[in-house]
Amino acid sequence: MMAVFKSLCFVLFVTASAEFVWKHHNNEELSLILDEVHEKCPNITRVYTLTEPSVRNVPLYVIEFADSPGFHQPYKPEVKYVGNIHGNEVLGRELLLGLANYLCDQYNKRDRHIRTLIHNTRIHLLPSMNPDGWQLSTDTGGQDYLIGRNNNHSVDLNRNFPDLDAITFEFERQGISHNNHLLKDLTRLAAPLEPETRSVMRWIMSVPFVLSAAMHGGDLVANYPYDESRSGAPVSEYSASPDDDTFRELAMTYADAHADMSSRSRPGCHAGPDDAGAYNFGKQGGVTNGAAWYSLKGGMQDFNYLATNAFEITLELGCQKYTPEKELEKEWIRNKDALLAFIWKAHSGVKGIVSDDSGFIQNAVISVVNITGPVPRPIRHDITTGAYGDYYRLLTPGHYEVTANHPGYFPVSRIVTVPKHQTSARVVNFRLEPTTSWFDDYSSFGLYPHGLRDGQPRIYKRDLYRQLTDALLDHRDSH
Ligand SMILES: [Zn+2]
Repeated sequence: MMAVFKSLCFVLFVTASAEFVWKHHNNEELSLILDEVHEKCPNITRVYTLTEPSVRNVPLYVIEFADSPGFHQPYKPEVKYVGNIHGNEVLGRELLLGLANYLCDQYNKRDRHIRTLIHNTRIHLLPSMNPDGWQLSTDTGGQDYLIGRNNNHSVDLNRNFPDLDAITFEFERQGISHNNHLLKDLTRLAAPLEPETRSVMRWIMSVPFVLSAAMHGGDLVANYPYDESRSGAPVSEYSASPDDDTFRELAMTYADAHADMSSRSRPGCHAGPDDAGAYNFGKQGGVTNGAAWYSLKGGMQDFNYLATNAFEITLELGCQKYTPEKELEKEWIRNKDALLAFIWKAHSGVKGIVSDDSGFIQNAVISVVNITGPVPRPIRHDITTGAYGDYYRLLTPGHYEVTANHPGYFPVSRIVTVPKHQTSARVVNFRLEPTTSWFDDYSSFGLYPHGLRDGQPRIYKRDLYRQLTDALLDHRDSH
């Protein structure tokens, strides 16, 4: 009897302690780890795959943490981390598996901070966007600087997104104020979209993400938009986005909470004996504007910002691309606080709901003027409301005039102060009054802000947009 009891205890012990091990998990093990986390935390997680697998048919797995997995809830911002977009840059992939395991364990241990975070945020982790590249890199020893970087069609996925920078820069030159959700204005693709890119684009366009980071390796720095220079030339020149202040703060949040990303005394990654000819990002606080480092077209972070409401930065997590297995746990300890601090930034700035007497208003435009200094500074990048009329406007501490607008309604403005050290965004709701209560036919009063513009070949653009969205949304046809 005692023997039976003992062996029963042993079985229980073994099943209950599928202990997470720091190692390089292959593509099968990756999905098993996510399933194990889900079994340990069934009520706050969901494992799903993106709509298309990789070229070699490996599913792109995501684990989601939320108190109602599978559903967007108003007032709860959505955050994502994307790892392993370059197949031979492997640390992000293992950190995200470790983070999934950690969030679940701490939740079950009733860690107050983790519980609050999960109850107020929907968090999506995609450990590997490029499982084929990971396989090639791993099979060839993982030491080459380039082998395994691309997908199985030899395409660099972080150059394969539609180049929306070129559109926003052209609008800037022409003085056109239209500055968000620019996929509609795309007239051509520089290259066909890869299945991994298409899958991630659909994901980005269908979930109302607020904040995101993509993980790379090869240097140690938090890199923020724009990645593309305004001239489009492959030069190194600072290319500020309208949200430069906010992006700098997001990048600094990660760098400062990391063990030594922002350390001014650490050596640079590729420094020669005299430290010449190489960047030492520690000396600039562990952050850089993307194009100030080097300009690239078709990157994922600028696409997030210019196609959706999401703010994405790019994390270079270490000098080595294929981190040795024995250093993975040490790297987790060096990154853990930063990974969590960054997610908390989804709760900075202001958020709220735009509605009228009959319900939520979707696609209302939230525009912001920074009135902190003596001269008001409009932030020329508007945010739009989602299905519940909800919006999330990341901002740095200061004073702002926030305006909600929608065709057919009178705009409403509010003055808001964003405090320092937020763990919850300021709630600013808007109730709009329709102009139809004043005019019989408001459409004739020119109240549509993004109407047709002279000289724009709108029909062709619409046509491409329809082709593109059909291809993105109706994935049944894409196999
Ligand atoms: Zn990379």
